[in-house]
Amino acid sequence: MANSKFEYVRHFEAATTTHLLPNTHIVIRIDGRSFHRFTTLHSFTKPNDIRALNLMNACATAVMHDLGGAAISLAYGTSDEFSFLLRRECDLFDRREAKLVSTVVSIFTAHYIALWPDFFPGVTLQRPLPSFDGRAVCYPSVPNVRDYFAWRQADCHINNLYNTAFWALIQMGGATPREAEATLAGTVAKDKHEILFSRFKVNYNQELEIFRKGSVVYRNYGAVSDLAGEEEGEGEKDEVADESKEEKKEASSSRTQPLEAMQGKSRAQQKREAKKLAKAEVVIEHVDIIKDAFWEKRPWILH
Ligand code: ATP
Ligand code: ATP
Ligand code: MG
Ligand code: MG
Ligand code: MG
Ligand code: MG
Repeated sequence: MANSKFEYVRHFEAATTTHLLPNTHIVIRIDGRSFHRFTTLHSFTKPNDIRALNLMNACATAVMHDLGGAAISLAYGTSDEFSFLLRRECDLFDRREAKLVSTVVSIFTAHYIALWPDFFPGVTLQRPLPSFDGRAVCYPSVPNVRDYFAWRQADCHINNLYNTAFWALIQMGGATPREAEATLAGTVAKDKHEILFSRFKVNYNQELEIFRKGSVVYRNYGAVSDLAGEEEGEGEKDEVADESKEEKKEASSSRTQPLEAMQGKSRAQQKREAKKLAKAEVVIEHVDIIKDAFWEKRPWILH
């Protein structure tokens, strides 16, 4: 039977394909589905099971390595969520939203299940198996991106302080969940610090940074070299030749011309930079990303 008879259905797909706005910072956030239940079912240590946080970080690192073209420059994780920042110039999958989100979610989920035994030795993974949802949002400016990550880290701080006090009241104070909730109702941060210290001798500021600040995963490009004006190494001769071929091939492309114009550099130059970024070591740190210092010291992340 001739395929052409059926092919018209492709137009329906084209009509609903979303291409994310070019030249904007894409953030893809994934979040564990019903993890309140999942963490209870697997007897996670409350409020913070370090094994789970390390597993989440390993999955995020895998996403950064597996997704092509050094597309992701930074990821931030807390609790059962992770946010991935794609480079402004990223044109992976032609920036098709469904492709990007579903690929990130599925790489992450696959690793969560495959790596589970490494992080939870002796704990059998029960059904329903862990799964994650995902969404993409475009941020047009660097301040917007900064505020997005500040929002997530502030959320981590607020939730973690609450959860630390909540579980201290239960685990050390013998309260029921309902009583702990009532005790904390209407309290501000200072009150929670005070409850923790006066009743349980817990100094919140001495809790692990991974709990209080979450995890920042990024390509430590600065440790390798400066992004602009780097000399080509010996081993990169072939790549450079390939790229100049590509440069010629793409020079007249109607698709790449507007992209080059708005980004102020050629596609070949962008690819060269992406290749160098991909070689940089991926590191995990538990540091402040609300203030300027982290970003100012690592200008390549929001480049
Ligand atoms: P939804 O499907 O709407 O996201 P959810 O139950 O996953 O529902 P969240 O708001 O995402 O709701 O909350 C995540 C839950 O998982 C919280 O209850 C949180 O305490 C728990 N959780 C996540 N990570 C850990 C961890 N490392 N240790 C202990 N508990 C965790
Ligand atoms: P993309 O990421 O763009 O989808 P792809 O390599 O997955 O790239 P597809 O068009 O999806 O490209 O093709 C799927 C490939 O997997 C084909 O090469 C197909 O022959 C192979 N494949 C899929 N299922 C089977 C199977 N059951 N047995 C053997 N080969 C398979
Ligand atoms: Mg949710
Ligand atoms: Mg969740
Ligand atoms: Mg969550
Ligand atoms: Mg395929």
